[in-house]
Amino acid sequence: MKRVKRYIACLLTLLLITGCGSNTQKAKEGNVYYEIFVRSFYDSDGDGTGDLQGIIQKLDYLDDLGISGIWLMPIMPSETYHKYDVDDYYSIDESYGTMEDFEELVSKAKEKDIDIIIDLVLNHTSDTHEWFVKATNSVRKGKCEEPNSYCDYYNFTTERKGKYYVVPGSPYFYEAVFVDGMPDLNLSSENVRNEIVNIVDFWMNKGVKGFRLDAVLHYFGENTPKNIEFLTWFTDLVRSYDEDAYIVDEAWTNNSTIYSEYFKSGSSAFDFDLSQSGGDIVSTIRGERGAKLAKQVVEYDSLIHSYDENAINSVFLSNHDQGRSAAFFAADENSTKFMANVYLLMPGTPFVYYGEEIGMLGSGVDENKRLSFIWSDTDDTGMCSLLANSDYTKRRYAALDEQQKDKGSLYNHYKKVITVRNNHSSLVNGSTELYSTNNDAVYGVVSRNDKEEILVIHNFGKSVNEVTVEGYKLSETIVLGDEKITMKQNIVTLPAQSTAVFIKEN
Ligand code: CA
Repeated sequence: MKRVKRYIACLLTLLLITGCGSNTQKAKEGNVYYEIFVRSFYDSDGDGTGDLQGIIQKLDYLDDLGISGIWLMPIMPSETYHKYDVDDYYSIDESYGTMEDFEELVSKAKEKDIDIIIDLVLNHTSDTHEWFVKATNSVRKGKCEEPNSYCDYYNFTTERKGKYYVVPGSPYFYEAVFVDGMPDLNLSSENVRNEIVNIVDFWMNKGVKGFRLDAVLHYFGENTPKNIEFLTWFTDLVRSYDEDAYIVDEAWTNNSTIYSEYFKSGSSAFDFDLSQSGGDIVSTIRGERGAKLAKQVVEYDSLIHSYDENAINSVFLSNHDQGRSAAFFAADENSTKFMANVYLLMPGTPFVYYGEEIGMLGSGVDENKRLSFIWSDTDDTGMCSLLANSDYTKRRYAALDEQQKDKGSLYNHYKKVITVRNNHSSLVNGSTELYSTNNDAVYGVVSRNDKEEILVIHNFGKSVNEVTVEGYKLSETIVLGDEKITMKQNIVTLPAQSTAVFIKEN
């Protein structure tokens, strides 16, 4: 639905501008998102800090990789390097650039059919946000009953509880679930909701496609029904600007809570069970249990659609809070590549964490997971400075410029898989069905929408497997070595850790 509209818009634009030439990027049907920590992506002015102009300069790179959306980690003013504690919801942190830079980024991304969603941190503000400064002043002076006291913006109490911190010079404490410098907002307050209405209005009018919502589990001290009420209100609000707006929750919990609760709000949510080194993707690759993962993917897809017929799962391997995915299989590069096949060809929206496509490493303290993108080892143009506290120096894969020249590189593998995905809109908005091959090692999932019906087959086995496929013709293949995928009659021969996409025969 979303893509069809976009396609029509694209056609109209093409007719107007180029007379429907073919120079424009092919429609990116696959909806692959790319998560960017602005600070560490590309530094346009040589001050060591990545910035919005840097992303503008690298839009061609992202377009070429096949990306159709960007998640920008927080860009609003903040005193911390990560900016997950906002000082002002209506500005750009000056180390990242200006509002004009942001507007330029949105408009240049749009020319390439790339959407932008921004991180929105609503659980808490910075303790230097003027709301908190005013609120604590009112608390101290005993003026909370007066108009514009801001006391209702936060959660104050005279009772000392866990995760509450004293307001100096007063008998009051304030709630701060993460750290004392991040006071929790009172999302029940009508005044706070009115602020959020203004914030959403501001950014939707800047042209964002939606929001990644930070820390939603903590909105109401893990009171799930209240969290869902808020998220439903928020989603309806955003969709009043754009019915296809993309809202994705960071509800860092198990999938049964996510599908049975968080998908009720109409938003999407990250699929944490699939991610990380101990997650379901990695463990099924290790155990060569493709059939098991296929069953799980189809069941989850069906569950989320039972609450919201337009539900979209948000799939990823790792993010800025987790160890880098290239370490999951250590020196086993084939499994690292195959892992990309598996998650990038899943139903939903896959998120690539910047640098994942070149196998960047990093674990331990958070700063290690957010290191500068490695554009080159011989030219430091655009490279961002080291983060204070980071102490990670290990490398396994070459810099981007080297990988671009190497046909067999991880980067070129990612590019190929994303190209395959972008041919298939049914992976984004289709319905899914299990395709059994009677082989525990083989994953088979059918996706269909009104444009196509496809079958994705992965051989999770580390040896050749043969399966029978009927009613579909072979469309695309992704192999890691020299052996090819063949189909003779209905018998498909799949080399170790290979992937085939089939299209339904009419
Ligand atoms: Ca800079």
